[in-house]
Amino acid sequence: MPSTRTTRLALVLAAALPFASLAHAAAPLCPATPPPQPAGWVAHVQQVNRSLGIPPDYAARHHLSIQPEAKDLVQVPRDVYGRKQEMVAPAAAALKRMFAAAARDGIKLETVSGYRSFAYQTHLVREKLNRGMSIQKALSINAVPGYSEHQTGCAMDLDTPGYPAADTVFDKSKAFAWLQQHAATYGFHLSFPPGNIYGYEYEPWHWRYIAGSATASSKR
Ligand SMILES: [Zn+2]
Repeated sequence: MPSTRTTRLALVLAAALPFASLAHAAAPLCPATPPPQPAGWVAHVQQVNRSLGIPPDYAARHHLSIQPEAKDLVQVPRDVYGRKQEMVAPAAAALKRMFAAAARDGIKLETVSGYRSFAYQTHLVREKLNRGMSIQKALSINAVPGYSEHQTGCAMDLDTPGYPAADTVFDKSKAFAWLQQHAATYGFHLSFPPGNIYGYEYEPWHWRYIAGSATASSKR
């Protein structure tokens, strides 16, 4: 039987590392569809979402899958506010190639938001609820915690000078037209077009890297 001291240490460690190891399945990064997640991680996400008042069947009704939490993040260009931003290595490398290609075509792409932890996503939703927003409205703006593509380190919100961040007017920009034509070459895809099955508002700024989807010319 473990001593009380050992048990207490285990509890302290468990509190310090909230499901980190459970969320970090050693699966290939940025797959098209997330693999099934460990039961402990799923239970933790569901418990937090219950505490936010998210209906238990919300994710299933919106075709959402629980995402792994990224680890081993690398820095990408600072965002439009000067904050550090991170993605997992293959996504960061692809982003770098895409930004360089856009620049050669006279398009300046900028980052707005890359990796966001489960805890931060939970905070974003809770903050809206605290301001009196309904959970339904909050979840049309922020992904359900645990289900956000930003949690994987594979997604990036993009902008270009002269356009407000995370605003649908971005789809009127030359940068958006460039992305529509070229992003897939670098493995980036628009996740939430108008009328998407997830019930999210149209997000022309949100692009996700999918491993293996870049075409050969991305090596240029
Ligand atoms: Zn986004």
